[in-house]
Amino acid sequence: MKLGDLEFWLLTDSTFRLDGGAMFGVIPKPMWEKVAPADSRNRILMAMNSLLIRAAGKWILVETGAGDKWDAKRSDIYAFDGAPRLPEKLVTHGVPPEKIDIVINTHLHFDHCGWNTRIVNGEAVPVFPNSRYVVQRGELEHAKSPTDRDRASYFPENFMPMEKSGQWWLQEGDTEIIPGIELLRVPGHNADMMCVRLTGGGKTVFFTADLIPTAAHVPFPWIMGYDLYPLTTLESKKRWIPRAVREEWLVIFGHEARTPAGYLREHQGKYDLEPVMIDV
Ligand SMILES: [Zn+2]
Repeated sequence: MKLGDLEFWLLTDSTFRLDGGAMFGVIPKPMWEKVAPADSRNRILMAMNSLLIRAAGKWILVETGAGDKWDAKRSDIYAFDGAPRLPEKLVTHGVPPEKIDIVINTHLHFDHCGWNTRIVNGEAVPVFPNSRYVVQRGELEHAKSPTDRDRASYFPENFMPMEKSGQWWLQEGDTEIIPGIELLRVPGHNADMMCVRLTGGGKTVFFTADLIPTAAHVPFPWIMGYDLYPLTTLESKKRWIPRAVREEWLVIFGHEARTPAGYLREHQGKYDLEPVMIDV
């Protein structure tokens, strides 16, 4: 899809499954299972969505999925499914990993930065050797010393190798990293997660990351149990969703498998999604 001189593609690493109760926080199961059916282990289907962007002569990748550094037990828990995975999809697009100039991790949970690295000769090394890797400085610091509540979401092999290779390009607060690509710090899911806003040709695209992980999370109180600061997520949703409606932003969800993109609409104070198909 084109936005003026900027062009982007939606790529998905694979699908995976997380506990439906944890995904919907205080929303009772009889309500959420109507829109997100649970499997026999109470898990719902989700995707790990990435954006590949061409802008200002550079290749930019937003999010790197879950990667392949998984043992059998965890692969079974999360049910990663679907080939080809992100690196092969990049090759198919004619942009092999060595051509990527900038990798953006909205945050460092395992489902957003897994292909940052892969194991070579027993050691985790960067998959994108010629790229700078972007994250908020506060998120990297937090990832290195998480709390007991969110430790399971962080795997040092996804983010420590770039410290060693000197590839981190750390940000503090909002920034326009390339003309037309803005990184917006949006707290709630954790303290320093970012959403990504693309603008060009009079159009705007808003990549929600985990602010609104799936289309089912559009209504204000549908907030993940995983969020460290759910009331802050609520404030962030009230800040960004009405604006996305008013200004007709194309919204792309971080984890929606079925309807990853669309326009948010308001009907009598409630918000929902009008899905659109975009090129992949
Ligand atoms: Zn996530």
